[in-house]
Amino acid sequence: MAGIYLHIPFCDTKCIYCDFYSITNHSHKNEFLSALKDEILSKSEMLKDRKFNSIFLGGGTPSLLSYAELNDLFAHLFKFYNISNDSEITIEANPGTLNNTKLKEIINLPVNRISFGVQSFIDEELKFLTRIHTANEARESIKNAMNAGFENVNLDLIFALPGQSIDNWKYNLDEALKLGTKHISAYSLIFEKGTALYTMRKKGEVNNADIELEQQMYEYTMEFLEFNGYMQYEISNYAKPGYECKHNLKYWAMEEYIAFGPSASSFIGNKRWTNVKNLTKYIQNIKTGKPVYDFIETIDKDTAVTEHIMLGLRSKGIYFDDFKQRHNIDFDKKYSKSIQTLIENSWAESDNEKLKLTRKGYAVCDEIVASLF
Ligand code: SF4
Repeated sequence: MAGIYLHIPFCDTKCIYCDFYSITNHSHKNEFLSALKDEILSKSEMLKDRKFNSIFLGGGTPSLLSYAELNDLFAHLFKFYNISNDSEITIEANPGTLNNTKLKEIINLPVNRISFGVQSFIDEELKFLTRIHTANEARESIKNAMNAGFENVNLDLIFALPGQSIDNWKYNLDEALKLGTKHISAYSLIFEKGTALYTMRKKGEVNNADIELEQQMYEYTMEFLEFNGYMQYEISNYAKPGYECKHNLKYWAMEEYIAFGPSASSFIGNKRWTNVKNLTKYIQNIKTGKPVYDFIETIDKDTAVTEHIMLGLRSKGIYFDDFKQRHNIDFDKKYSKSIQTLIENSWAESDNEKLKLTRKGYAVCDEIVASLF
């Protein structure tokens, strides 16, 4: 089954490290919502034979939309798409945008998973990242979400901040654990081109974390979360059994997903496209019936094989039957030498069914993919 993604591009402020398409001017919100509904409708005929079992509202900050606006979007999706009753339906939320009333409204929407961008439980670190919430507000939002009835909750954290000590990072993980969310994502800070953080580094105002310290933090994260019952199922993602994010798994397993909104990327059949990263252009193109993508590619056989290996190693492993079925290639035979190197170095483990990276392998995943495949 396929997934649906909606990109809501509005935020209260722009965080210094963020390279997602998001804007702080909300004056075209109504026009955007109308264009989004038009885009959803325009693709429904093409996708009438597909069944969907995940919806993900990301951004930006989808929790900035009102109950009525969100409800209207869901009604529109359910009207035109074949969405399974047991779908995983996620909304991303910024802890600073949710009070108890809003949470109670959200639980009444067809939403059963909520993902909080917490990033840190230390106020100084949150200030550095220019987040709009405090550590206490993040704790409260998560507790309130659980009290309101959300069982499937994720929180995102970022490590390897400039000047961050290993003790601070351990504290962040301890605090996350205390909240008992079913899912934790832990990413290292990336200095993405075009962000304020990137410019700060260029000006010499900040530096990357020491590479060995970053590695130490990553290894500690994997060990700590696994010890506490969170299964690592992707380089940066950990879940209690049964709570892996179905929607994100589709990206890593190269399953189909349709995505709506500016900057959103879709993968249907052997085509992948990305919508324009400009709200005005997005609205205009929809209004005038022009395509909204600014990039489209056909995934050929070789690219599909390479991506399958890369994404499989990053996540739950490469399943030999699945690989054979999709590419007509015996993975274990064709790549036997690479597999042997991985196993000899304890970077991966293999049984008759699959090849999967170990914790040691996850830590050098990019190098492994580049050198061995
Ligand atoms: S709240 Fe999220 S999407 Fe918005 S600017 Fe910050 S990191 Fe980016």
